[in-house]
Amino acid sequence: MSKPDLRGMEMEEVELMLREMGEPAYRGRQVFQWVQARGETDFSQMSNLPTRLRERLAERGMITKLKVLQARQSRAGDTAKYLLEMPDEETVETVLMSYTGREARDRYTVCVSSQVGCAMGCRFCATGLSGWQRNLSAGEITGQVLTVQQLLRFNRPEANVTNVVFMGMGEPLLNYNEVVRAIRILNHPQGLNISMRRITVSTCGLVPEMRRLASEGMPVVLAVSLHAPSDRLRDQLVPVNRKYPLEELMAACRDYIRAVNRRVTFEYALISGINDTSDHARQLAGLLHGMLANVNVIPVNAVEEAGYSPPSPWRVKEFVAELKERGVEAVVREEKGSDIDAACGQLRRKRLR
Ligand code: SAH
Ligand code: SF4
Repeated sequence: MSKPDLRGMEMEEVELMLREMGEPAYRGRQVFQWVQARGETDFSQMSNLPTRLRERLAERGMITKLKVLQARQSRAGDTAKYLLEMPDEETVETVLMSYTGREARDRYTVCVSSQVGCAMGCRFCATGLSGWQRNLSAGEITGQVLTVQQLLRFNRPEANVTNVVFMGMGEPLLNYNEVVRAIRILNHPQGLNISMRRITVSTCGLVPEMRRLASEGMPVVLAVSLHAPSDRLRDQLVPVNRKYPLEELMAACRDYIRAVNRRVTFEYALISGINDTSDHARQLAGLLHGMLANVNVIPVNAVEEAGYSPPSPWRVKEFVAELKERGVEAVVREEKGSDIDAACGQLRRKRLR
């Protein structure tokens, strides 16, 4: 049997492992801190543990390392995109977005991948076009955040990752158990201690899993990739809509809002000539009427094969205004890093070709 990956273990599990090795419980906490707060990947460097224990840990367990194959910085310097390689040589994309200087405290958001590729086949998505390879383990998910945290600290010793969004490659709710496990680990006070309210899970709309997530007692932010205000259009853009049509999806969103007592975010990628007319804005406002919700309007990132392009910046602003006039909270999501293919799946896809 392969050795357990400590990056994917909750603190209680590490404590249990250490107890089984005949060590006191506090050793488990120390090891967890090394792995999940300091990002250490080498047992021999865990300097407050006895040397013999470090050796025994290396015999019983392992720590997944992610290799940085590529790093690209946006011109503005506020976005960095990494192509990370896992032990089986599969690669994922992870993005760091920095929001500094404008708010009371700096915000560092890591956008993580949950799967290698994706099986959902959304028409405008580079990841969807490449198909699905495999799920990531919890350790590979926390590992993305830990790797980026270390890279961030290298330049800014005081900086900490404050937010995590599951908006990289893959559909997080199709890798439910590992994603939930990773969230609990990232949230742990002895680890990176990232607040649940600063963790966003983005889904294309898997209704049963959304309902399950609502029952976890984890008040994470739910983002739903809507992209179309009618079944007819959404069936085309987001094929999973044929399985879970808008009525069921909206009911699940309302229940999530009730269960977690928080607003749901809707993602709406604006595609010129497809979903960006005033009629679409009106339909969308009707769909969200009376809901505790906000809409992130994102000018679609052009993906060559799909043949979709974003509307003019002017039309994007107008679309948002049309939603607001009807009482829907909406913003244009800040475009970050489109010059480095920071949109979902694009960097990896270029490398594959
Ligand atoms: N699978 C999940 C999370 C990853 S995708 C989901 O679909 O929600 C993260 C977000 O990027 C989703 O809202 C997705 O619809 C959006 N997205 C994908 N391709 C895009 C593109 N070319 N331009 C703009 N947004 C895109
Ligand atoms: Fe998968 Fe999300 Fe891309 Fe759709 S948008 S193909 S669900 S990663």
